Amino acid sequence: MENQLYTIDKHKCVTCYACIRACPVKAIEVGQNNENLQIIKERCIGCGLCEEACPVDAISYRKSIEECFALINSGGLVAALCEPSISAEFPDITDYRKFSQMLRAVGFTNVYEVSFGVDLVAKEYNSLLKEFRGKYFITSLCPSMVSLVEKYYPELVPNLAPIATPMVASAKVVKLIHSNKIKVVYIGPCVESKNEAKRYPGLVDAVITFRELREIFDDLNIKETTLEYSDFDAPFGAEGELYPIRTGFLEAANISQELLTGEITTVSESTNLISMLDSFERNIDNIKSHFNCFMCHGCLMGPGTTKGRNYQMRRSDVIKFARKRIQSLNRDEWHENLRKFKYISLKTSFSEDNQRIDYIPDNIAEDIYREINKDLKSPNLDCKACGFNSCKEMAIACYCGLSTPDICLLSNKKTIAKQRHMLKQEAEKYTKTREALIESEAQANQARIVAQEAQDSLYATIRKLPFGVVFVDKALKITYSNESFVELLGEDAMEINEVVPGLIGAQVKSLLPKDIYNQFHLVTHNPNESVNKDFKYKERLLNVQIFSMGKGNLVGGIFRDLMMPEIQKEEIIRRITEVIDKNLSIVQKIGFLLGEGAAESERMLNSIIKTFKQTPKEEDL
Ligand code: SF4
Ligand code: SF4
Repeated sequence: MENQLYTIDKHKCVTCYACIRACPVKAIEVGQNNENLQIIKERCIGCGLCEEACPVDAISYRKSIEECFALINSGGLVAALCEPSISAEFPDITDYRKFSQMLRAVGFTNVYEVSFGVDLVAKEYNSLLKEFRGKYFITSLCPSMVSLVEKYYPELVPNLAPIATPMVASAKVVKLIHSNKIKVVYIGPCVESKNEAKRYPGLVDAVITFRELREIFDDLNIKETTLEYSDFDAPFGAEGELYPIRTGFLEAANISQELLTGEITTVSESTNLISMLDSFERNIDNIKSHFNCFMCHGCLMGPGTTKGRNYQMRRSDVIKFARKRIQSLNRDEWHENLRKFKYISLKTSFSEDNQRIDYIPDNIAEDIYREINKDLKSPNLDCKACGFNSCKEMAIACYCGLSTPDICLLSNKKTIAKQRHMLKQEAEKYTKTREALIESEAQANQARIVAQEAQDSLYATIRKLPFGVVFVDKALKITYSNESFVELLGEDAMEINEVVPGLIGAQVKSLLPKDIYNQFHLVTHNPNESVNKDFKYKERLLNVQIFSMGKGNLVGGIFRDLMMPEIQKEEIIRRITEVIDKNLSIVQKIGFLLGEGAAESERMLNSIIKTFKQTPKEEDL
């Protein structure tokens, strides 16, 4: 992972594929199930376009703050080497001398500007292009641009100007001044510079971006207001201050790009660059121009700068700062320094690192496309909305795992149409289910009303029966009792009944004598048992029948006063014999009827009433 510049946080990624569309070289691999996107470091050119495109900040670059502090804390000399875009990045700092002092407060022992290095490099370019020997060059100032050529246009590597970047030139100057006894931290707008530094071991010891520097200022609470002024360390630059503007370097190098007399063309931003490189490859003999190239819209818009500031504002800040610096520059000293450091070698070389997707014959590419796109049944439109130049290119990338058909808008339209159809079907199912539920709920409500009416009617009838009826639950608490039962228990119970009608909730244990209570206890715990016994209770002879109602663990009890004057003893004896079984089954049915239909309840009630109102015929007595 050492050279892995950008990474994707899979926990944040929402697989929108915006990064795949944005990546100019298709360096993002799609994992299983079209998820777990990964940036392939060998293919990545560090342009940062994926990070900019990501709507959920799932992409970030390798930070080097720890590396920087390891150098500072080592106790030796450590120089900060500042790219001239500082004026565009830190407009909130009122004076560059405060900025310089803020860097010293971080712990840097020396603070240099890169602009002098730009001037050195500019002179080299001037010589190279002036000594034109029939070969057209592409500037190698932008590390991302250099990676783009090395990886995707390897045949153009010989056309890269063999001159080191201002970062390298400045680091060489600083190391020379301090006899190599100083560490160098480059601070700039470019993320790919972190990889560029690795091409020159021991020269640039760490690279942090402006965004990282802001983080450091914030963490250490370093503010200009509390600090003194301090200038950068010499040597100072001149027109090199214009370097962050994409044509600024040409001005520093005194290279004309005028249309009629100029010898160079400036191209910036990935799409233009790729198109330029394609043309350069095929038509340079007709184009006849050198190219000054930047991946960004000039370094002042680099991926290591704070997002959101407008290009024109940044450009104007760079120009104002350059004017100020050049006005205060001692030109004699500057010339002297150019002479002094002109023997520093700025020669460099580049090598091919071909990452092009292998050539696939057209017919095979078409087959791949058809295979990927078999459901689409649409022609190759080459609409480029996916970020590829053609459907064929996209198909090959899918084949190599570098893309997914999901990023194709047409394919998506098809998928969306399918999903819409599925959703519609689901919605219809849902509506039907809902209607059925509403209907069954209405039926259930109706059934509940009927059952309630039946129950009310049943209880109203039982309430007036001439014998006591009581229902108890499993905890032996009364859930219902009629008037005859309350009267039978006596005055205390009648008083309670006035407060709690039907004695609901009362424990039968507290109301009945122990021998009768024990019978309730027995049936409650043994639902298959039933009791039919006579008990003496308060000068009365009671016939008590207790039975399980089999529903809701209810137990019912019927209390008949066999001493009632209107009932002859013989009648009692006969009816006891005849009615016991009837009563038992009928009152059980009463219990079962709770919650059943009104018609059935009525039938049962009539049966009960009939049974208990019926006067026995003479011959039966
Ligand atoms: S940094 Fe540039 S090249 Fe690398 S993955 Fe992101 S968009 Fe692609
Ligand atoms: S842009 Fe790329 S990394 Fe960001 S959420 Fe979308 S798919 Fe994921």
